Amino acid sequence: MNRQFPKSLHDLGFSGLAAVLAAAGVVPHHAKALWRALYRESALDLSACDFLPPLQRWVHQSVGAGKAFFLDVPEVVDEIRSTDGLTRKFLLRLCDGQIIETVLMGYDARQTVCVSTQAGCAMGCVFCATGRMGFVRHLRPGEIVAQVLHARRILQQIHPHKRLRNLVLMGMGEPLNNLNAVLQALDIISDTRGIGIGPSKIAISTVGVVPGILQLAAEARPYRLAVSLHGSTDEERTALVPAGRRWPLDTLIDACRSYGKTTGKRIFFEWTLIAGTNDAPQTAVRLAKLLDGIDAHINLIPLNPTDGFAGTASPSGLAFQKILLAAGFPCTFRQSRGIDVAAGCGMLQAAKRRVSLPDCDSTRPITE
Ligand code: SAH
Ligand code: SF4
Repeated sequence: MNRQFPKSLHDLGFSGLAAVLAAAGVVPHHAKALWRALYRESALDLSACDFLPPLQRWVHQSVGAGKAFFLDVPEVVDEIRSTDGLTRKFLLRLCDGQIIETVLMGYDARQTVCVSTQAGCAMGCVFCATGRMGFVRHLRPGEIVAQVLHARRILQQIHPHKRLRNLVLMGMGEPLNNLNAVLQALDIISDTRGIGIGPSKIAISTVGVVPGILQLAAEARPYRLAVSLHGSTDEERTALVPAGRRWPLDTLIDACRSYGKTTGKRIFFEWTLIAGTNDAPQTAVRLAKLLDGIDAHINLIPLNPTDGFAGTASPSGLAFQKILLAAGFPCTFRQSRGIDVAAGCGMLQAAKRRVSLPDCDSTRPITE
């Protein structure tokens, strides 16, 4: 039996959508109206949209429960707001019950959304709550796109005049382990007929998956690249980031050099500062040496304590930063609201598994 499984419309790029309509005898011209409804208006219910009759009929026949297509509209399980209300973290339930995190950050002129790319993560970084969960599954493109749409709907409600301008792939999961879906999602998200977040405002963060870095360079993808380094020697790094055994520092840094050369782009290196582990002055000196000749910006991240990891945030971040600045590298601290507090690392998700749902106050302030 040739059973057709329902597909998410949010999984389809513009040409895919036009092809689906064409196959149903709806002239491709209507794809623009459908795209606009999905990505300009962030429609939650296409049957309520003001379409011309052919498209309306197709929607009626093809979209909805038990039909060929559905919309990715995750359910909000919980929301946590920062005390100033500018950062909102959402725990979203996907259609198969998996729970992921998405964060809307609006604490400066930039309006940024941080999205997840996998449920769980296989890479097992010891300080990361998502890593402790292990890998559950990849997200589909539509599930990545839907997080951006959700953030944009919320932004429109709270600040109708503000636009969502930035996207970081720093939520749960390793984007380069799910690269095809990520790239399909980014094509949709950056399409100027719809959501239209500029490719230069999109950052992909990786733990250092070398084949993925090389693929991004070979395909001249226009996105920004962030590499989570956290260690200046293989010994220091693999103790925190097991993926460092698969791609040792010399291989990873070679790939970064090659990425920089091919794309001409600056690379952002992320460094979670852990007291007594990777915050010594000689580590900063080694890091500067390692990155010598690379157009690099170093982002220092204060460690967020997580269950099962005994490390603590470093008190000597400023001294570490000073050494890198003196070596000529732009080096900044990542703002400690938003991704750093609970999202980006599955901490809200982990907390949720410990605390039963009714105990969660949706306006509980984030402790900073
Ligand atoms: N898998 C990708 C992207 C998601 S993690 C990656 O590792 O880059 C996004 C960032 O959050 C990474 O730099 C990661 O090292 C950092 N991070 C994870 N857990 C953290 C924690 N408990 N405290 C501080 N930073 C953390
Ligand atoms: Fe995965 Fe990134 Fe967490 Fe490492 S830091 S376990 S790569 S999500």
